[in-house]
Amino acid sequence: SKGAALVTAVAQRLASQKRKVDETLSPFRLSHEQLQLVKARMRAGLEAGLKRKGSTAIKMLPSFVYRTPDGTEHGKYLALDLGGTNFRALLVNFKKGLQQNTRLHHKIYTIPLEIMQGTGEELFDHIVQCISDFLDYMGMKNARLPLGFTFSFPCRQTSLDAGILVTWTKGFKATDCEGEDVVGLLREAIKRREEFDLDVVAVVNDTVGTMMTCAYEEPTCEIGLIAGTGSNACYMEEMRNIEMIEGDEGRMCVNMEWGAFGDNGCLDDIRTEYDRAVDDFSLNPGKQRYEKMCSGMYLGEIVRNILIDMTKRGFLFRGQISETLKTRGIFETKFLSQIESDRLALLQVRSILQHLGLDSTCDDSIIVKEVCGTVSHRAAQLCGAGMAAVVDKIRENRGLDHLNITVGVDGTLYKLHPHFSRIMHQTVNELAPQCNVNFLLSEDGSGKGAALITAVGCRLRQELNN
Ligand code: BGC
Ligand code: MG
Repeated sequence: SKGAALVTAVAQRLASQKRKVDETLSPFRLSHEQLQLVKARMRAGLEAGLKRKGSTAIKMLPSFVYRTPDGTEHGKYLALDLGGTNFRALLVNFKKGLQQNTRLHHKIYTIPLEIMQGTGEELFDHIVQCISDFLDYMGMKNARLPLGFTFSFPCRQTSLDAGILVTWTKGFKATDCEGEDVVGLLREAIKRREEFDLDVVAVVNDTVGTMMTCAYEEPTCEIGLIAGTGSNACYMEEMRNIEMIEGDEGRMCVNMEWGAFGDNGCLDDIRTEYDRAVDDFSLNPGKQRYEKMCSGMYLGEIVRNILIDMTKRGFLFRGQISETLKTRGIFETKFLSQIESDRLALLQVRSILQHLGLDSTCDDSIIVKEVCGTVSHRAAQLCGAGMAAVVDKIRENRGLDHLNITVGVDGTLYKLHPHFSRIMHQTVNELAPQCNVNFLLSEDGSGKGAALITAVGCRLRQELNN
């Protein structure tokens, strides 16, 4: 009968649609073997970075932070936090031995796109203007406070208070900064303003700040992880293994800059055409390839590229590519997190898509949700595979069969996404069975950590002067 024929036709259409969706998404579904390969390559890459010779994809940058806090830090410190979702100025007051009595004030500022991508002078003048506002707000203009600068980009440090920007990442592209000492750029901007004076003591990567903040409460924390706008990790490495730095005694925290993993082509076999498209149209093509597969700034872009392709091939959004879908950056982490939330009914997914200007059928919203889930699942697994390499490296450094260790974590993806953290933890457990890895969320991690490092730096300076 006609009715039965119609039902069969619809069923066939659905089956073929499902097949096409599966085909498109299958390169994102990584096997255990593939993840083990990623772990092995991360290990090889970090070993290469620790060697003095030549430039490598994973830079393994020394941080000049030699130890985790010991609880004797005290006093008032300013901190700046640049490079994540927000720009913040903070005032942190540590009371000796009383972790829970740490007082923290902060204010969030925005950095307009035209300043992120304008001249370096404009960027640093803007930063100093925000500091000026913050000092007014706190009533501390005349205090000449010590300052720690969390600067979440790759910097080649020669001391705690000198760091040459290797390359901008994420959404930044201000001119005349790459190859320059960012502490110098900050000091010059403070001078130009002729309004107040500050003592810049330390430049700190956000991973290092996060590790230090967690270590303040949990001494087994010797790794820092950021899964946010960008992706990166740091850990306490043995001095004898860091060829760039003289001396064999003790440990130093190394900022891995693992976001650049794959820049030498070693992840090409798992990158998809959509990853390549995202990379090609980014501010820094060819760079930060691993970061572009696992951090908040790019996941939505991967999703968008897949959706465009599915639409072009006629099995999504009725084959109509809307202006919205052509707009870069529409799927922010917070939308992905909402779409993937288990508690959300499909109707609500549709209304989120509607809100983004995407007119969807019920089938469409099922597909969109599956695309988002697949892309973020891979991101969490890749991040977990990287972390598995790090914990096993530390375990082997110490000649242990079994290692207990804590990772201090921060970042919007880790904090906001409904599944990312769980899948990442699970992957680490599967790929590093000889390690018992505990994850500790750090609130205000990078800023507070910069203040802690500044406190340690001030004390070292005093010790040297006496
Ligand atoms: C930067 C790192 C930073 C990470 C997380 C990356 O793009 O290169 O220095 O730690 O983002 O913010
Ligand atoms: Mg941050």
